[in-house]
Amino acid sequence: MTFNNYIDGRWVASPSGRLFENRNPADHTDLIGRFQASTADDAGDAVAAAARAYASWRLVPAPRRAEILFRAAQVLAARKEDFARDMAREMGKVLEETRGDVQEAIDMTYYMAGEGRRLYGQTVPSELRSKFAMSVRQPIGVCSVITPWNFPMAIPSWKIMPALVCGNTVVFKPATLTPLSAVNFVKVLEEAGVPAGVVNLVTGGADVGTLLSTHAGVSVVSFTGSTAVGRLVNQHAAAAFKKVHLEMGGKNVVMIMDDADLDLAVDGCLWGGFGTTGQRCTAASRVVVHERVYDAFVDAFVRRARALRVGNGLDPAVQMGPLVSDAQLATVVAYVEIGRHEGATLLTGGHRLADGALAGGFFHEPTIFGDVTPAMRIAQEEIFGPVVSLMRCRSLDEAVAIGNGVAYGLSASIYTRDVNTAFTAMRDMYTGIFYVNAPTIGAEVHLPFGGTKATGNGHREAGTAALDVFSEWKSIYVDFSGRLQRAQIDTQQL
Ligand code: NAD
Repeated sequence: MTFNNYIDGRWVASPSGRLFENRNPADHTDLIGRFQASTADDAGDAVAAAARAYASWRLVPAPRRAEILFRAAQVLAARKEDFARDMAREMGKVLEETRGDVQEAIDMTYYMAGEGRRLYGQTVPSELRSKFAMSVRQPIGVCSVITPWNFPMAIPSWKIMPALVCGNTVVFKPATLTPLSAVNFVKVLEEAGVPAGVVNLVTGGADVGTLLSTHAGVSVVSFTGSTAVGRLVNQHAAAAFKKVHLEMGGKNVVMIMDDADLDLAVDGCLWGGFGTTGQRCTAASRVVVHERVYDAFVDAFVRRARALRVGNGLDPAVQMGPLVSDAQLATVVAYVEIGRHEGATLLTGGHRLADGALAGGFFHEPTIFGDVTPAMRIAQEEIFGPVVSLMRCRSLDEAVAIGNGVAYGLSASIYTRDVNTAFTAMRDMYTGIFYVNAPTIGAEVHLPFGGTKATGNGHREAGTAALDVFSEWKSIYVDFSGRLQRAQIDTQQL
């Protein structure tokens, strides 16, 4: 089956006639569909359509825009199971997780629909008499939305829903590995009544992404993906001073203190390290364990990791699916080799799985390295696969220093029963997200999401913070005194 782009309210093929294939990473003989390998011209058409639609969409009252979002949330909820199955087939993660991905899109859509009746600004007293002062949010224009493959519906919803409720229009470019979920998502918006041109979908790779970061008609670029590509997007968009929102890589840490509930910590590290096959920006890829409980933790963690059932994500008995692509699998294999060379101890895993039913997919064993030191590459670089690096610490201070000692700053967590320890770590970890007695994953849509340092550029997704990406503040002064009043000068009279 061949899928088209969605431009100006119509499903259209790229005039280039070029297509790319989407295959199931659990079984590469399973062809899901062919999608448009769009060109810069296609992306330009989409930007032009979005710019035309902006002229009227920005003037639709926000509560009316929100009614469309409420309908979209209902349609998403009604199709949740179908979308979750499509997503497991094209992306590989297990059904329970793909249902969670669709649920996150539903939650975000309802949440942002609610914002249609808020979008609060401020009213403040003026320093002058008979003068009214307030601030309002105004839409910005056409937003490019460039997304990765690991949350094929949740991440687009984090960007597109706040963009729409604020009154912007959108050109959406999903990752080439998960275009079907993007098509499903845009069809929902079409069915919910989003007017032609307000949301446009252009499938394709770096060419399309580059055009969407540089086109003069684009005002906002919202990107989630790797730090390397995010840097390029930032550079490309800088020339025209576009507003750029970047959510990038992570190297997240779980810190386990000597008073921790170790069973709970093992549960958390399994979910944090191997959930989504480790392909989460918030994955718990580093675990720092107090030396007094290191051996006990390692025994239990390794035993539980060995017992994880790896296979096709559509099988309800499976706990960990494949890597998303051969390239991602090759990265994991390469990092296992790097870890061995660096002198870390391979405690379990370390091999590709390709026997029997797994032969056609990109499977890899859950892998744990022990005796890792903080400077090793496996402790510093984002692997984005089922590889966890264990390090020892002697104190909270040391754990925090190791935790903060990476280029990224997305998520961190601590396991302890001591409230003072928990609050100290909460204060001292320089990350955008922090958990106590829970792993590094588990974000909810009504709180800000994002990271510091090489993870982000100061913006946040989700919560009302997302509205700041997709709107500009306008301060308005209304003088009803009937005379000239000069701020900072005519303020003496009481
Ligand atoms: P990627 O950087 O390879 O691709 C992301 C998107 O950018 C894709 O749509 C891709 O086609 C597009 N792209 C590629 N080259 C481009 C260019 N030159 N200009 C513009 N766009 C271009 O990332 P990925 O492999 O899809 O996703 C994995 C990465 O995403 C990991 O690093 C992960 O940590 C990160 N991620 C971050 C978050 C977060 O919120 N911080 C969430 C999920 C994933």
